[in-house]
Amino acid sequence: MSAFKLLLLPGDGIGPEIAAEAEKVIALLTRAGVAQFEIERGLVGGAAYDAHGVAISEDDMKRAHAADAVLLAAVGGPKWDGVPYDVRPEAGLLRLRKDLGLFANLRPAICYPALADASSLKREVVDGLDIMIVRELTGGVYFGEPKEIVDLGEGQKRAVDTQVYETFEIERIGRVAFELARKRGNKVTSSDKANVMKSGYLWREVVTALHKREYADVQLEHMLADALAMQLVRWPKQFDVVVTDNLFGDMLSDEASMLTGSLGMLPSASLGAPDEKGKRKAMYEPCHGSAPDIAGKGVANPIAMIGSVGMALRYSFDLPKAADAIEAAIGGVLAKGLRTADIKGNAPSSVSTSAMGDAIVAEL
Ligand code: ATP
Ligand code: MG
Repeated sequence: MSAFKLLLLPGDGIGPEIAAEAEKVIALLTRAGVAQFEIERGLVGGAAYDAHGVAISEDDMKRAHAADAVLLAAVGGPKWDGVPYDVRPEAGLLRLRKDLGLFANLRPAICYPALADASSLKREVVDGLDIMIVRELTGGVYFGEPKEIVDLGEGQKRAVDTQVYETFEIERIGRVAFELARKRGNKVTSSDKANVMKSGYLWREVVTALHKREYADVQLEHMLADALAMQLVRWPKQFDVVVTDNLFGDMLSDEASMLTGSLGMLPSASLGAPDEKGKRKAMYEPCHGSAPDIAGKGVANPIAMIGSVGMALRYSFDLPKAADAIEAAIGGVLAKGLRTADIKGNAPSSVSTSAMGDAIVAEL
């Protein structure tokens, strides 16, 4: 059996604590003969700054390129608030996304029945929720040029950000969404502001043409981003796959995350373009940050991190049954009443990071 190469970047804050739980799951998969995993470790964020004065070393970037997938836990924290902008912890994350060409960010929002009461919405609105938000990650207003602050004199300045999208960028993210929909509920909701933005107009035109040409079997609807923000908290179960640009995707996926109970529950995948063999560069990480307020206490929820391992199995290693098994194991321990502090709700007690990891391993 050939081995899958994983680069593990535990990072900062609760990162190392939750990464250790992900490693337990990977060790079990290896023991059970599901696949062989070769894990290399690297440094990113504050940890890389403390060791080498950079946000990620060239050596670790090389290993990221050589790996079948990167598994990252979290970066940042108040300790590095004063470090120069170019080597701030988040720069490590952005470098990885940019250099690996990770243009598609997949954020599933799944509400496990056992947690439906932890959501900010009524149980019937979220119970059984299973949607996938696909966010374009390398274009749009976060990167478009010009991007500047111009001094106009007399105390006046002008700040400029530019939203730019080209046909190929919209097409490739649209394709990711349609392919995902075919394996799920067969429905794509594409979100833009075609009524007021040129880039939104092109977005809609390109997605519509792609649908007609290659994905007519999938149901497609268009929804303005403001309307979608409203519908997400009104009746989120109407959605299957939502595809949108970088800015709207940033906001809508954070909004969707709150339907599921806790930030500590949400995994993510960031994927690049397929090569000749259909292999994509990929990075998997929890949606949450380094949670400095609880770091070192052993109370962080490892589920988002373990779920990210599940996404790696599904999207990088073509092991969908093993990925299903991880999701089922998470659902199983939750159904048994196991809770970390962030999802405790009215439960009588909560368990540690490692106890949650061990329970998921046992269930698996
Ligand atoms: P970033 O800027 O890196 O996205 P953030 O400021 O959004 O970070 P997080 O680090 O994600 O913040 O934390 C937000 C809140 O959620 C904190 O109170 C944190 O303790 C909590 N939190 C985040 N992740 C987890 C987790 N895995 N388990 C428990 N609580 C968590
Ligand atoms: Mg955040």
